[in-house]
Amino acid sequence: MVEHFKNYINGEWVGSASSETFENINPSDIEEVLGIFPRSGKEDVDKAVQAAKDALENWKSITPPERGCIISEAARILASRKKELAEIISLENGKTVDGGLGEIQSGIDMANFIAGEGRRMYGRTTHSGLKKRFAMTKKYPIGVVGVILPFNFPMALTSWRVFPALICGNTVVLKSEENSPETAIQFTRILEEAGLPKGVLNLVHGFGPGVGDAITSHPDISMVTFTGSSATGKIIARNCVSRHAKVSLELGGKNAVLVMEDADLDLAADGVVCGAFSVSGQRCTATGRVIVHKAVYDEFLKKMIDLTSKQKVGPANDETSVVTPLINKKQLDRVLGCIERAKKEGANIILGGNQLKGDVFDKGHYVAPTIIDNVTPDMEIVREEVFGPVLSVLKADSYEEACRIHNTSPYGLSASLFTKDVNRSFSFFDDVEAGVCYINAPTFGSEPHMPFGGVKQSGQGHREVGWAAIEAYSEVKTLYVDYSSRIQNVQFVNEK
Ligand code: NAD
Ligand code: MN
Repeated sequence: MVEHFKNYINGEWVGSASSETFENINPSDIEEVLGIFPRSGKEDVDKAVQAAKDALENWKSITPPERGCIISEAARILASRKKELAEIISLENGKTVDGGLGEIQSGIDMANFIAGEGRRMYGRTTHSGLKKRFAMTKKYPIGVVGVILPFNFPMALTSWRVFPALICGNTVVLKSEENSPETAIQFTRILEEAGLPKGVLNLVHGFGPGVGDAITSHPDISMVTFTGSSATGKIIARNCVSRHAKVSLELGGKNAVLVMEDADLDLAADGVVCGAFSVSGQRCTATGRVIVHKAVYDEFLKKMIDLTSKQKVGPANDETSVVTPLINKKQLDRVLGCIERAKKEGANIILGGNQLKGDVFDKGHYVAPTIIDNVTPDMEIVREEVFGPVLSVLKADSYEEACRIHNTSPYGLSASLFTKDVNRSFSFFDDVEAGVCYINAPTFGSEPHMPFGGVKQSGQGHREVGWAAIEAYSEVKTLYVDYSSRIQNVQFVNEK
C-alpha cells in the first residue's frame, strides 16, 4: 500500500482543502510511486499562514537559547535516524544512500551550529556622538517566513533555511518540493518530536503555481527565502518586492574551474570530473565550465576524458553509482535540448552527449557524462545552467584571460582555481566574480558555519548559512538611551 501523506498545520496533520493529490516518484525506478501527497492551494496556505501568525507571539517570547535547546534536540533525533532518513532521501531524490547520509550530516551540523547561535545573537554597542547617550542595536524576529526550496538537497537545504529562521524567533510556512516531499515530512516530524510548539513550523505540499504563488503573495508573510532557478527567483522577487516583503534568493550557477599551467593536473582533473558529473551535475555549485591554460590543454583534456569514462552511471540503490539519475523527464528533455542546441551552434561533443538506454537506464532518466569543446563564451551551453552532467571546456592563453572568460558569465555562485602559485591564488579572490571561491578544490563543498551565496544572477545580495543566516532572518532595531536629562539634538553636536 502506498502511503498517503498530509500537510502539517498548527500542529495537526491534515489533508488539503481540495482533496487533490500528486505522486512522489522514485527517479531510479519511475514506475514506483513512493507516496501520495496533497496537492494544496491558496486555501491551505492561508490556514498555514494564520497558524504561523498566531504562533508568533509565544515563539518570540521564548529566549534564543531556549529555542536553541529544541534545535539541539532535533540534531540528536536526526543523528539517531541517520540511516533510515538517508534511505528515504535516496529513494525520492535519486542520490545514493551515502549521498543521503551526507545531507543528514549537513542537517545535524547546521542544527548544532544554529543552536549555539542562540547564545550569540549579538547586536552592537557603540559611543554616541552626544554626551550621556547610549547607542546600540539588537536583533528581533521578522515575522512569518515562507520557505521555498529545490529538489536537489532536500534535507540539507531545509535545515539550512528553517533552523536559522526559527532561532531568530520567526515562525515558518515551508513548501515541500514536489519531487522530494517526503524529506520535508520527516524534517517536520523531527521538530514536532523535539518539542517545537504548534504553529511554529507549518508544512504545505504542492507546486509553484498554487502553493508557491500563494506564499510569495500572502500579505502576512514578511519574508520569503527561495532557493532554486534564477527564472523562478525573478517571479518570486517580483511578488515580494511589490508588497515590500523581504526576500532572499539563492539561485543557479554556471560555475567554473580554472586550470593553470602549474597545477597538479591529476588533482585538478579529479576535482573537475567530480564537480561536473557526480549526482549528474544536479548541484547549484556543479562545475559547468572548465577554463584550461593552453600550455596544458591537451594533456588535461586527455586526463579528464580518461577519468570521466570511468564514472559509474547507475541508480541510487547501487552504492558504486556516481552519476545518478536525473530527477524527472522534464530535466532530461532540458539537458538533451541544451546539448542539441550546442551542436547546432557548432560545439564539438568529445564524450557522451546522449541519453543512456537499456537495462537499469530504462527505469530512469540518464544522460551520459558529456564533455564539449569548440565553444565560445557567448554560446548558450557556456552561459546557461544545464543542471545535468554536461561540461564545457574553454582554452585560455593566460591566467588573466582565464579570469576574463570566467567573468563573462551572467552567474557568479562558486569558482575554483587550480595552481601552485600563492600570488595567483590570492589575486584570484580579487579578480573573480563569484560568491564562493576555492583554491585547489572543486566548485562545491560549503560548510555550515560559513556564509554561502552568489553574485550577479546567482543571488540577490543577501548571504545565508553561517553567521550570515542570523543577519538574513533578523530585523535590526537601533536603540538609544539618553541619560543627560535634557533634550539633545544630534545635528548640533559640532556647534557646541
Ligand atoms: P525551480 O526553480 O524549478 O523550483 C524551486 C522551487 O520553486 C520548487 O519548490 C517549485 O515548486 C517552486 N516554484 C516554482 N514556480 C514557482 C512560483 N511561480 N512561485 C513560487 N514557487 C515556485 O528549481 P529546481 O529545478 O527545483 O532546482 C534547481 C535549481 O535550484 C537550479 O537552478 C540550482 O542551481 C538551484 N539551486 C540553488 C542553490 C543555491 O543555494 N544557490 C542550491 C540548490 C539549488
Ligand atoms: Mn520524487
